[in-house]
Amino acid sequence: MQAGYPSSWYAHSVGAHDDYSALSGSQQADVCIIGGGFTGLSAACTLMEAGKTVILLEAHQVGWGASGRNGGQMIRGFVGQEKLARRFGEEGAKAVDAMMWAGHDLIRRRIDDYGINCDLTPGWLEVASTPRQLASLYHHYNEMETKFPDRGWHFMGGDELRATMGGDQFLGGLLSMSDGHLHPLKLCVGLAHGAASKGASIHEHSPVTGIEPGPRVRVMTADGDVTADHLLLAANVHHQLPIRELTGTSSAAASYMMATEPLDSALLDELNPKRYAICDTKKVCDYFRMSSDGRVLFGGRVNYSGRKPKSVQAKLLPRLLKIWPQLEGVKITHEWGGRLGVPYGQVPLIGRVGDNIWFGAGYTGHGVNMGNLAGDMLGQAIAGTSTQHFDLFAKMPKRRVPFGHLSCARWLGQQAVSLAVFYYWLKDRL
Ligand SMILES: Cc1cc2nc3c(=O)[nH]c(=O)nc-3n(C[C@H](O)[C@H](O)[C@H](O)COP(=O)(O)OP(=O)(O)OC[C@H]3O[C@@H](n4cnc5c(N)ncnc54)[C@H](O)[C@@H]3O)c2cc1C
Repeated sequence: MQAGYPSSWYAHSVGAHDDYSALSGSQQADVCIIGGGFTGLSAACTLMEAGKTVILLEAHQVGWGASGRNGGQMIRGFVGQEKLARRFGEEGAKAVDAMMWAGHDLIRRRIDDYGINCDLTPGWLEVASTPRQLASLYHHYNEMETKFPDRGWHFMGGDELRATMGGDQFLGGLLSMSDGHLHPLKLCVGLAHGAASKGASIHEHSPVTGIEPGPRVRVMTADGDVTADHLLLAANVHHQLPIRELTGTSSAAASYMMATEPLDSALLDELNPKRYAICDTKKVCDYFRMSSDGRVLFGGRVNYSGRKPKSVQAKLLPRLLKIWPQLEGVKITHEWGGRLGVPYGQVPLIGRVGDNIWFGAGYTGHGVNMGNLAGDMLGQAIAGTSTQHFDLFAKMPKRRVPFGHLSCARWLGQQAVSLAVFYYWLKDRL
């Protein structure tokens, strides 16, 4: 495992990558970014491409948060897209369609531009386990096929589904060849390298401890400070920074993953011959795929409290074995978890406070596409090259829990999210 990252199969397999020194002394930049996840790194790339000077401050290491630990499933669209479309009518619907794969396209472009190897593999299969889910998936297929006919859709069931995913636990599946999966931590370190190669200053082990707003914002760490024209807060739910306008707008949910030992190639070919990413259609879903070194990476919910479980595999392994009983006796080599931002208003939190403090967070389980896209959207808005889609998100009302600055109100909000997850878990079973 690379020192500094929490233990995970991603940390184990990320390979050689750059390290960046902690901030020291007083520095100046056009833009200071807090957070080295997809949002912050993507924004740094966009801002460097626009010719700005950028200092990015990361409390741990780039990709330390959800961006370096997630399922790696590259899923179209974003959570809350129907809500955004409804609010802005035709303009909103057009924007949602335009953004559907914009994050994927951006990732592919950056993989090419910066020479990033992050095991990008095409194909995402959504599978339904109840007749109601199957009917809804088929309806979705018809809608998508009509609207986006060139995106490589294929609906399957019966023998074909069994041959595609080595089991008959599910009733049907919708394959999209425009979606896929990747190694998220390799993408993070590759984006950081790309931004740094264009001149961005990245500082790891530099937790921001305070922000002084003003015509030029000042950002403090233990050993230094940055003064910048703009500040981008891209720190997900991890930060404890007091920005009053954002308190009480989101809650943190946890998701957990485990990795099996590498499987032999005959078994891999039986279980998932095309190496698609797979996700069930439940609101509280299980997601799984094969890693580049032949493991099963399996993730999902483990409880409703949000508290760290004693054993991740005790919760996840029975579900994996239900799907693939062929794996009985398989060894689990890694288990880990992370926190993702769930906005109370359901739509990602993207906007601006005052003239020069910008923020992007709250993509729920769709942060690969949306985190990269939001970073780009914010980078473009800050650089003044485009505010088209940013404006829609910024105008979306941000729902908040009353008295969200008080810890008891935040606790109540957290319980409400846990209850909502439990409600969806029950509904998924109907
Ligand atoms: C287990 C798990 C599985 C998931 N699976 C998927 C999936 O398969 N597909 C998908 O699309 N999405 C998935 N997601 C969601 C996705 O990972 C997130 O939505 C996305 O990565 C969030 O990116 P971010 O840039 O907002 O935040 P993060 O990646 O969390 O980055 C925020 C960074 O800010 C830093 N930071 C915080 N406070 C400070 C501070 N004060 N000073 C300096 N730095 C600070 C943190 O150290 C962190 O590195 C999953 C999430 C988890 C946890």
